[in-house]
Amino acid sequence: MYRIRIHGRGGQGIKMASRVLGTALFRSGFTVQDAPKYGAERRGAPIFSTVRAAREAAEGATIKERGVIHRPDLVVIADDTLLAVPAAGTLQGITAATVVLVNSRETAATWRHRLNLAATLLILPATEEARDRAELPHIGATCAGAAACLLGVIEPAALQAAIEEELAPLGKEVVATNSDSALAAFDAMAAHRGLVTEGTAVSATDYIPPSWVELPVDDASVAAPDIRAIANSVQVRTGLWRTLRPVIDYDLCGKCWWVCSSLCPDSAIAVEQDIPVIDYDHCKGCMICVGVCPPHAIGSVPEYLAQQQEQQAKSPGEHDGRDPADR
Ligand code: SF4
Ligand code: SF4
Repeated sequence: MYRIRIHGRGGQGIKMASRVLGTALFRSGFTVQDAPKYGAERRGAPIFSTVRAAREAAEGATIKERGVIHRPDLVVIADDTLLAVPAAGTLQGITAATVVLVNSRETAATWRHRLNLAATLLILPATEEARDRAELPHIGATCAGAAACLLGVIEPAALQAAIEEELAPLGKEVVATNSDSALAAFDAMAAHRGLVTEGTAVSATDYIPPSWVELPVDDASVAAPDIRAIANSVQVRTGLWRTLRPVIDYDLCGKCWWVCSSLCPDSAIAVEQDIPVIDYDHCKGCMICVGVCPPHAIGSVPEYLAQQQEQQAKSPGEHDGRDPADR
């Protein structure tokens, strides 16, 4: 059975990647299970999804394993910044038999040196530049395409059909752009086609329970907390996740600040002399304040447009009309 884990951030299409890969495997004759795992949180937070794929003839028509994958055959990391986040668990359970694929602008040699892994480590050629840090267009489809090639049991036609099946509700244009990304990634990995080997089956029938209850404990390097001191959340600039910026129209604002400031989940709306003021370093752009403001005094502006306007205000003569992320 193949066991695959795909890591990324909320909003990068990681759940979609596992669905596309699972459907492509199903179309290639496998019994498949795929599932995302994320908390109650939000765009930009670490998430992962899993795919198990068993050959029907060899292993029966059902997959009895459930839950997260502890011994992956393939790990795809869509965002290399997650490698520095122990809580993301990207490296959990990796062995010498695992293939690790990282989407990064760094070289494979650099990551091998940094991570000192026994696994085979490959780099997914960097995807197009993102409009901002929270947006990585089509990265889910790119990961699915690259993974499909590394498995070696999926033909491009099955991959394309899976994308059409899974993304059809989003329209032809979305299907076309995601197909292009997935097939390009498939081709980019051609030199490594079939590199991933199937992990051995775990038989529930032969399982002998131990005489004690074993509680799994993560290695300290994985389980150690990210936060080592109190009151330091101010240092985490969640404003970088924002794709939409809430903007208060003070002409409409009724100064009912207890509404917006107390309902902002990140405490990003301060109150200065009865006036609500948004802290853009920490506003993550969830738009809850836009929805709850009684007189609709808070509007939403695309982040890149807001940055353009800021730039224009600072240096009107220098503005060249391009998105700041493209400069
Ligand atoms: S909820 Fe709306 S009207 Fe009330 S203080 Fe906040 S921005 Fe102003
Ligand atoms: S969008 Fe509004 S509610 Fe959401 S984090 Fe920003 S200020 Fe707070």
